[in-house]
Amino acid sequence: LRCEASPAAQEASTMVSEAGMPRTAVVGVLGGGQLGKMLGQEAAKMGVALKVLDPTPDCPASVVAKQVLGSFRDREAVQQFAKDCDVLTVEIEHIDADAMQAVAEQSAVAVEPTPHTLRVIQDKYRQKQHFSEAGVPLCDFREVKCSKCAEGAGRSFGFPYMLKCKRLAYDGRGNAVVSSEEGIAAAVEALGGYEAGLYAEKWVPFVCELAVMVVRSRDGSLASFPVVQTIHKDSILWTTETPARVPPAAQRRVQEVAEQAVAALEGAGVFGVETFLLPDGSVQLNEVAPRPHNSGHYTIEACSSSQFEAHLRAVLGWPLGDTSLRVGASIMLNILGEAEGEEGERRAHQLMARAYGVPGASVHWYGKAGVAPQRKIGHLTIVGRDNDEVRRRLRLIDAGAADAVE
Ligand code: ATP
Ligand code: MG
Ligand code: MG
Repeated sequence: LRCEASPAAQEASTMVSEAGMPRTAVVGVLGGGQLGKMLGQEAAKMGVALKVLDPTPDCPASVVAKQVLGSFRDREAVQQFAKDCDVLTVEIEHIDADAMQAVAEQSAVAVEPTPHTLRVIQDKYRQKQHFSEAGVPLCDFREVKCSKCAEGAGRSFGFPYMLKCKRLAYDGRGNAVVSSEEGIAAAVEALGGYEAGLYAEKWVPFVCELAVMVVRSRDGSLASFPVVQTIHKDSILWTTETPARVPPAAQRRVQEVAEQAVAALEGAGVFGVETFLLPDGSVQLNEVAPRPHNSGHYTIEACSSSQFEAHLRAVLGWPLGDTSLRVGASIMLNILGEAEGEEGERRAHQLMARAYGVPGASVHWYGKAGVAPQRKIGHLTIVGRDNDEVRRRLRLIDAGAADAVE
C-alpha cells in the first residue's frame, strides 16, 4: 500500500539547491488556526516563507504568516492560493480534496500529503475501512444508515457503543454514546440524524490512550516522536504526558501500530496517530490526523525538533531531523475555554499567570477572536527531570489536571 511520491513531489525536490543547501521555499497551508500559527513560528526560524488560507479575518496564524482571506473548502480560492507556492499542505483535514487534486494535477506545486490521503481521513468510516483492509488492529465498526442498523449495532457490539459522524468531526463533536436501545433516537438526533452520515464503533474498554506523531519523508522513510499518554475531558484532549507511564513493550507496540497505519497512507508530512491500550496489552488504532496534532505540541519544548519543524522538513523533501526527547519528561495542558467572552479570558489568564511562575513551564496563547466554553484557546508545556517533577509542577498550576494525570 505504500505509494510513490507524486511527479509534482519529485519535481519539487529541486528545492535543495546546487550547493545542497535548501533555498527559501514558499509553503502554503490550508487553514490558519493554532496549528498554522505554530507552523509559522517554526517556518520563520527556518527561513521558510509560510502563507495560510483561512476565512476568518486575523486568524491565529496571521501574526506569523501571510494570510490570504478565503475558504479552504472553495476550489477556486485553493487553486488561486496555491499559485505561488512550492508546496501546498494542510493544518486541517476538512478541506476541499478535489481542489488539492486539481493543484497536484495542473501545476508544478507539490501537494503533501496527497489528496487521496486527505479524502480517506476526512471520512472516519472510510478511514476505518482503509486501515482495517491494511491489517491495522482496530475495534469493530459498521455503517449506520437507519434505526434497524443502529439496533443491529447494539445487538452485535452490545451497549454502550459509540455512534460517530463520518465527517467534520473534531474534539468529540460528532460522537455520541449509545447506552441502550432506548437511547438510540436521542444519540442519532444529537448527531444531526441518519442523513448526517453515521457509523457505530464497538466500545473500547481501554486502560489508557496513547498517541504518537509519525513523520514521513517524500521517499517514504518514517520517523516517530516519543509515545505520549493522553487524557481527554468530555472527549477533548486535556493533557499529554511523556514518557508515557506504560511498560516499554506497550510503547513499542503503539509505535508499530502507528507506523503501520501511516505506511498505509500516501504522502509526506507528520501524522498524529491516536491509539487505545487494552487490558491484555494489545493496541488498537483510534484515528489518524494527516497533519500536526494537539498530542504533539509538547515536541516544541521537549524534543530535539518539533512536530512543526518535522512537518515542514517532510513536505519540502528535506531530511527529517531528530525526533528524540531532549528533556527527562514533559506534560502538556490544553487551556480550554471555561466560560464565554471576558470571564473565559480572565480564567485562562489566571492559569497562564500561575504557569509563568513555574520553572519549566511555557505558555502558548493562540489569539483566537473569542473565548467560548470547551474551545482550545492555548496550551502550556511543562518540562522537567522526570515524570514526578513535571507532575509536581503541573499541580502548582492546575490541581484538577494534576489529579487527572496521577
Ligand atoms: P479529535 O479531536 O481527536 O479529532 P474526534 O472528535 O475525532 O477527536 P474521537 O477521537 O473519535 O473524536 O473520539 C474522542 C474520544 O472519545 C477518544 O479519544 C476516546 O477517549 C473516546 N472514544 C472514541 N471512540 C471510542 C470507542 N470506540 N470506545 C471508547 N471510547 C472511545
Ligand atoms: Mg478526529
Ligand atoms: Mg481523536
